[in-house]
Amino acid sequence: MGHKEGETMEHSHRDQIERDWTGQLAIYQKIKQLGAEEYFASVADLAAAFNADDHHVHCMDERTPGGIHCAGSGILLGLDAAAEFCAKSGARGITSHESCGAAAIYARLNGLTGNSDELGVRFAQDLAVKTGLPYVGHLPVKKEHHFARAAYYDGTGIFDSTKAADLPPGFFINRANLPADYAANTEAATAARIAMGDHGYGQLITTQEPFWFFAIAKGELTLGKLMAELEPLKKEFGDKIIIAGFNAPQK
Ligand SMILES: [Zn+2]
Repeated sequence: MGHKEGETMEHSHRDQIERDWTGQLAIYQKIKQLGAEEYFASVADLAAAFNADDHHVHCMDERTPGGIHCAGSGILLGLDAAAEFCAKSGARGITSHESCGAAAIYARLNGLTGNSDELGVRFAQDLAVKTGLPYVGHLPVKKEHHFARAAYYDGTGIFDSTKAADLPPGFFINRANLPADYAANTEAATAARIAMGDHGYGQLITTQEPFWFFAIAKGELTLGKLMAELEPLKKEFGDKIIIAGFNAPQK
């Protein structure tokens, strides 16, 4: 590939990221105006986002919606804890996916070189063997970059923002089935780092236009509790993150 071609690709890549960013500004304007609780309560078909119909483990990546979420299908938890997660969440199958950031982090943490997606596939297959669940495939992603400006810190474990209109795309953090420390300090922190990094919005995220955490409260996982778990992330991200949330609709 020639130098010029590479530049053009990089240019169109940033263009796409900026288009996604601009496309979401109106929704965030409204969330700022109304506050998260009122905004989400105003979404007409919000309940549709809480209909669990897929029981396969998916990454927390916003590009792999549906299913039961855990970063890299559990690669950052390790095999034993990931198997516990599968049991607790009622998983029926394990996926991996293209361009997995969690698998790349795992590779970096362990000093492994080579194709990190292959590590992700291998982990998902090992987890399938360990749990006796089927490995159900390597999911494609539609975009190379991350377009989420939010992460859902989900106390229900079944939330899918793609099932209702007017819900901003976000990373899916399955707080219902994951320990608080791991969910906040590993998954939530990773989501914000990805969004603020080269594969996401980067410097478009500022204190004026921050990255959002939306806690979704249910039962004992109250809004106050979930938001308090995220509060320590301010040490790393300061006012470039904003912590808000709403109550899951009553069935
Ligand atoms: Zn992933």
